[in-house]
Amino acid sequence: MTYLRTITDPVAKLGGVGPAATRSYAELGIHTQSELLLLAPRTWEDRSTVRPLGSVQDGQVANTLVEVVSHSYFGLKKGMKRTLKIIVRDVSGLGDGRLSLLCFGRNFLEKTIKPGRIYYLWAPVAIKGSEKQAVQFELHPATEDGDFPPQFGKILPVYPLRGSLTQRLIRANIRQVLTRCGAFINELPESLMKELDLLSTDEAIRTYHFPPNLQQLARARRTLAFTELFYLQLVARRKPRKKPAKPAIPGALELRLIERLPFALTNDQLAALKEIREDLGTEEPMNRLLQGDVGSGKTLVGWISALKIIAEGGQVAFMAPTELLARQHAESGAALLEPLGVRLAFLTGSVKPKERSYLLTALQRGEIDLLVGTHALFSESVTFRNLRYVIIDEQHRFGVEQRLALLGKATEPHLLLMTATPIPRTLSLTVFGSLNISTLRTMPPGRKPVITLLVKEESRPRMYKSVGVEFTRGHQAYFIYPRIDDSGQSDLRDVAGMYEFLKQQYPGVPSALIHSKLDEDEKVAILEAYRKGELSYLVSTSVVEVGIDIPNATCMIIEHADRFGLAALHQLRGRVGRSALQSYCFLVFSDELTEEAKKRLQVMKDSTDGFHIAEQDLIIRGPGELTGRAQSGYLNLAFASLSDDLELIEQARAASDRILQVDSGFLAPENTIIRSVLSEAPPFEAGRSEA
Ligand code: ADP
Ligand code: MG
Repeated sequence: MTYLRTITDPVAKLGGVGPAATRSYAELGIHTQSELLLLAPRTWEDRSTVRPLGSVQDGQVANTLVEVVSHSYFGLKKGMKRTLKIIVRDVSGLGDGRLSLLCFGRNFLEKTIKPGRIYYLWAPVAIKGSEKQAVQFELHPATEDGDFPPQFGKILPVYPLRGSLTQRLIRANIRQVLTRCGAFINELPESLMKELDLLSTDEAIRTYHFPPNLQQLARARRTLAFTELFYLQLVARRKPRKKPAKPAIPGALELRLIERLPFALTNDQLAALKEIREDLGTEEPMNRLLQGDVGSGKTLVGWISALKIIAEGGQVAFMAPTELLARQHAESGAALLEPLGVRLAFLTGSVKPKERSYLLTALQRGEIDLLVGTHALFSESVTFRNLRYVIIDEQHRFGVEQRLALLGKATEPHLLLMTATPIPRTLSLTVFGSLNISTLRTMPPGRKPVITLLVKEESRPRMYKSVGVEFTRGHQAYFIYPRIDDSGQSDLRDVAGMYEFLKQQYPGVPSALIHSKLDEDEKVAILEAYRKGELSYLVSTSVVEVGIDIPNATCMIIEHADRFGLAALHQLRGRVGRSALQSYCFLVFSDELTEEAKKRLQVMKDSTDGFHIAEQDLIIRGPGELTGRAQSGYLNLAFASLSDDLELIEQARAASDRILQVDSGFLAPENTIIRSVLSEAPPFEAGRSEA
């Protein structure tokens, strides 16, 4: 007996898996045999029902019993190779019709597939004129007793492929694991299985890959998806929430800062601050997500909320994903907070050793109230005297493991996560089950929505003219180039070419080229000059870092916009429209757009609402993208779909709540299985592929 997720034997040990296949499996995030079992088929091919030749339409698949009628040849002209054509007729008894099998490069079939013989046929059919043809086909000799050969009468899984993998190999490997491993330990309490009409774990995984019929397949998938969601809920909701002690009022420091601001806080900012303040007033560590579209003013909420802890003598860490962004935060934070007497310091990987050791000593002595930086903040050498509050900016890729790690800590600091990438509703019901959410829905007043224009190649000249007009008004622009190859070489060449080209377009307009190969110091200097308005535009390879805040920039030009995902486009566009000035976003695209890219660009043109865009992103990319282990930025779910399984999520939530209420230690005999699964094989941690 084994758990579904604990077979750690490598796939390399399976039949037919050499070094190439091992590498290809690794590309799918599959290293162990358990991970192979968790590979979800893209779809299933239904070969369980007969589809006679007479009734198949163009593009459909024939699945039936046939007799070989005759051989003929085509391509008889001089100099051409002749090709065998096998004519078959339907003898299934369920229909009639004929089909021509075109045997390109397979004339040898004339020796084996002889007239008069009976075969099971599976073939995608094309209709050319009055003839039904198939180029790709499978024929299997009919057995004496009329039994279906193994490939027929079945529903076959179709897996995602990489490199040297074939359907045949994956199917065989999965069968091999399923045959060898013995029965799987059941992962759900009996009563739940009964109530929800679910299969045992063992039956479910076997049925899922090789289902006898579509009904059983649905049941198997439901079982596996429910199991994942159920355990996820159990963990996420295990910690009871205490009610806040008393509504907290803003402290003196907070009020002084708010008075000094040149603008009023939005109602959403005030509401978020109140929620955070109340959380910070309880013993229970805060777990709060502050979500708000780009430019909604999250950073300021972070700063103000920190003052409560600082006033009480605690220390605060403010972490940003990149060095540039951390520096920007440190500067804006210092400008706001130092006049109030807050002692702020900046720490990243590039701080020089001497300065660093000085800083670390001060931190340990409690002479620093607020430390701003990158993930270097949490390296081992950094010890706080009294760290009570951690703020993490742009944390939209929050892994469940990190989250669980934090939940498990004894002296857990308060935690505020700030993100512009909203959490889909379904997801907020699961892993963020015990995470509270504050939302900034409204933008600071006076902002004009960014005008988004889709620009074809031939409309470039007009675009350059419009941007030029913005320069004459003293406004600034970003020109963005996508990352094209991993080495970065060709990007660099392209973007350098673009930079030269723009210099000719805008003679005498000061500009700079910024890319990932530059030193951190150079990047900082360029950005500083840009911030001061000494440069009118930046040409940049990868992303102008998320979160960069330069209100005077009004133009965002994105080259090859079709190569960016919606989330990235939205982030980039968010770099403009940060003041009362009218801003523009130009999405330049090439002529050959895929359907998906077309849809994406249209969504960008039609909407500036980050929540709407995130939703559309889910719809366009489809649930597969989110649930696929490799793609998911959030969770390692193999079977459940966060966009499609809302009903299952709710059922799992209800079931887990019920169990937690009566037996939170999982002590009842029926529930001991939960304890073992949680400690030995939790369903959402499988798959070590980095997202
Ligand atoms: P986010 O991190 O949510 O994308 P930022 O915190 O960078 O947004 O804020 C965007 C800009 O809006 C900053 O220049 C900030 O100073 C400004 N801002 C924040 N709150 C307000 C407000 N209530 N009124 C006007 N401007 C604001
Ligand atoms: Mg921000």
